[in-house]
Amino acid sequence: MNNAIFNYPMPTNEPVKSYAPGSPERKALQEALKELSGKTIDIPLIIGGKEIRTGKIGKVVMPHDHKKVLATYHLCTEKEVKMAIDAAMKAKKAWADMPFPSRASIMLKIADLLATKYRPLIAAAVMLGQSKNAYQAEIDAPCELIDFLRFNVHFAQEIYRNQTNRDALTLNRMEYRPLEGFVLTVTPFNFTAIAGNLNLSPALMGNTTVWKPSTTSLLSNYYLMQIFKEAGLPDGVVNFVPGSGSLIGNVCTNHKDFGGFHFTGSTKVFNSVWENIGKNLSKYKSYPKIVGETGGKDFIFAHTSADVKALAVALVRGAYEYQGQKCSAASRAYIPKSIWTPVKAEIGKMLKEIKMGDVQDFSNLINAVIDETSFDNCMTYIAHAKKSKDAEIVFGGTGDKKKGYFIEPTLILAKEPKYKSMEEEIFGPILTVYVYPDTDYEKTLKLCDTTSPYALTGAIFANDRAAIEIADDILHYAAGNFYINDKPTGAVVGQQPFGGARASGTNDKAGSYLNLIRWTSPRSIKENFVPPTDYKYPFLVK
Ligand code: NAD
Repeated sequence: MNNAIFNYPMPTNEPVKSYAPGSPERKALQEALKELSGKTIDIPLIIGGKEIRTGKIGKVVMPHDHKKVLATYHLCTEKEVKMAIDAAMKAKKAWADMPFPSRASIMLKIADLLATKYRPLIAAAVMLGQSKNAYQAEIDAPCELIDFLRFNVHFAQEIYRNQTNRDALTLNRMEYRPLEGFVLTVTPFNFTAIAGNLNLSPALMGNTTVWKPSTTSLLSNYYLMQIFKEAGLPDGVVNFVPGSGSLIGNVCTNHKDFGGFHFTGSTKVFNSVWENIGKNLSKYKSYPKIVGETGGKDFIFAHTSADVKALAVALVRGAYEYQGQKCSAASRAYIPKSIWTPVKAEIGKMLKEIKMGDVQDFSNLINAVIDETSFDNCMTYIAHAKKSKDAEIVFGGTGDKKKGYFIEPTLILAKEPKYKSMEEEIFGPILTVYVYPDTDYEKTLKLCDTTSPYALTGAIFANDRAAIEIADDILHYAAGNFYINDKPTGAVVGQQPFGGARASGTNDKAGSYLNLIRWTSPRSIKENFVPPTDYKYPFLVK
């Protein structure tokens, strides 16, 4: 019997391990890499806790060595999507009725399993399947996912604690019900932490999900399902359905019990699903809650007072870590003419040293882009810049897809501020720089604000405080995560809640109560202890 009010204090962030030579974590990770890279597993669908194999097979390969098959996986058909919806609906009542401390314990156990027993396994799966180096894998899953889980329990408690006043003779209460129906989650390839969080944040609030994972992150995503089960997440709370996004999206958004959509991925896909939802509105019991974090064309804007070295490091790390495949990656920069030559020299020095290659060689900072489609897309932008009179390739500009999908970190100098690669999201290791006249600071800030439809992350580098104030003002709506003298990537749960507006999403801030509250349907309850027994109000008396 639960007869106490428990307390979940604000946690601290999971410490990021160094993986330095000789460290125990490096040894454990290398063993896990050896094990996973030496076998091919079979990934089934998992619906209501049952493994389902459809025989429609796809392959999971290493992006940096694409002949190596890490797994085969089974693709769903319409039948399995409907089964997943039924399983989510069947599991819903018992899960929603489970007391919050029990749901919280399952989430905290998943976090602790990730922090200990499964840390090397999940990091190795992210490295091999999504081509991240050891550090990039560490800050994704395990660490960020652990943070999402631990902080969300605290934030959920704060939501549940949020109560109204009482009046004499009455009691008022707020109840935070899960949504009616199931939640469709569609997750991106680039962060396993996001894939986990998109399911577990609605689940923490008592919802059940139909999960469409990205086919290029299936290895780590499948291991997550196994960890969820070991931690005691009941069957049917998260239903794992690899397959075609449009098929799964269409079946789910056509269903009367569709209650919510939790998405991270490109703006184009988000818009298409939202349009479908709009067309089907009359079919649903409630207006579905729609949460989507989408694309970005994230900027670094420098003032003449910027520290040249700090700016150059932010540009290199912000643009090229994880091959620029972060929604927050710096992909356009505005540099004043007077500091461009030293900034360029600093970037050049770093790029000369930086190595690219297989994730299992820990000296490589840069690995491969996710797949051939992404490789070809990036190379199209590079080819365009090579031919255009409005652009020039300053660093990089080559790619090779024979063994893995490798693209050299590339810097394009745009002679026109609205050159193609200053405006469009590329999602690869390509940074475009526009050099502006020192005297045009405010004019160029306005240009930065209006050049792309996105508003996810952005950074200003300046030591002049008044210049920072001006940038803060002109760029007020240009980024949901705004950085001063720091790179625009690497948001930390509990420190910088993440998300942007404009074409970058609904800005419901993953890793904060703002996201969790979207998975609730609040109910106000008023209880009258002494209800009136006469209809007449005193003013009616003559
Ligand atoms: P994507 O949009 O190609 O795919 C995302 C998911 O949608 C995948 O699971 C995919 O299979 C699925 N999908 C594809 N077509 C679909 C359809 N018609 N209906 C339903 N689902 C469909 O994105 P991606 O390549 O996996 O990830 C990169 C994108 O994600 C970039 O645009 C990036 O900016 C964005 N992203 C944003 C954030 C953020 O927090 N704002 C975080 C990570 C990634």
